[in-house]
Amino acid sequence: MVVLKSKGEIELMDHANSIVQSVLDEMERMIAPGVSTLDLDRRAEAMIREASGVPAFLGYNGFPASLCTSINDVIVHGIPSDKEVLEEGDIIGVDCGVFYKGYCGDSARTFAVGSVSSEARRLLDTTRVSLEHAIQAVQPGGHLHDIGHAVESHVEEAGFAVVREFVGHGIGTAMHEEPQVPNFGSKGTGRRLKPGMVLAIEPMVNVGGPGVKVDADGWTARTTDGSLSAHFEFSVAVTEQGPQVLGVARDAAAATA
Ligand code: MG
Ligand code: MG
Repeated sequence: MVVLKSKGEIELMDHANSIVQSVLDEMERMIAPGVSTLDLDRRAEAMIREASGVPAFLGYNGFPASLCTSINDVIVHGIPSDKEVLEEGDIIGVDCGVFYKGYCGDSARTFAVGSVSSEARRLLDTTRVSLEHAIQAVQPGGHLHDIGHAVESHVEEAGFAVVREFVGHGIGTAMHEEPQVPNFGSKGTGRRLKPGMVLAIEPMVNVGGPGVKVDADGWTARTTDGSLSAHFEFSVAVTEQGPQVLGVARDAAAATA
């Protein structure tokens, strides 16, 4: 069942996501060669708690941290560690979830560490822009798979591959609600999008093949071919007027549209 949210609930989710965005902004400032992923996680957790939020990932099915930190060939769900130190030329996906007054925000960005290869830059740009296209597909009366179609067509045009084993999701009082939001699909198919739905849309894109393998830790998901992977995510509400990207000032959201 898809739970529709009231305007008041969407405002709380906007606030939860604004905490997430301030954490991701701080991560962008901190990320540099020599910084460990545990350094990032500690700072993120402190910021979340200072903002009266609760880290949504910490303890989720036993996950041990407040962030997922996913370097280079890691697609998603990397575990922060003091043994994992950023190097010039890496890319790192940072995913963050926060509960505020019982409502969840969830967003991710992939950052370059210093200067990166032109291929890595193209991967980051392609994945970020595929999310922008996906957001434009969030229209009342539209169809769920319009979203995945927008991601997939942009990514395939660039010659990259969409990950199919992980998907976006509805979000609300739980981090993962119905419906699943795949990053592929046929336009005009899937359930109708209705005002009050809130969806976490999160393209995961590999330079090589779409395959995924999970490390022995049970979390860290990598590309099977060792190629680079990127991940961007926003929580987006369906409104009568179209998509509302949560946690982002309205004028900033309009500027990226
Ligand atoms: Mg996320
Ligand atoms: Mg998510």
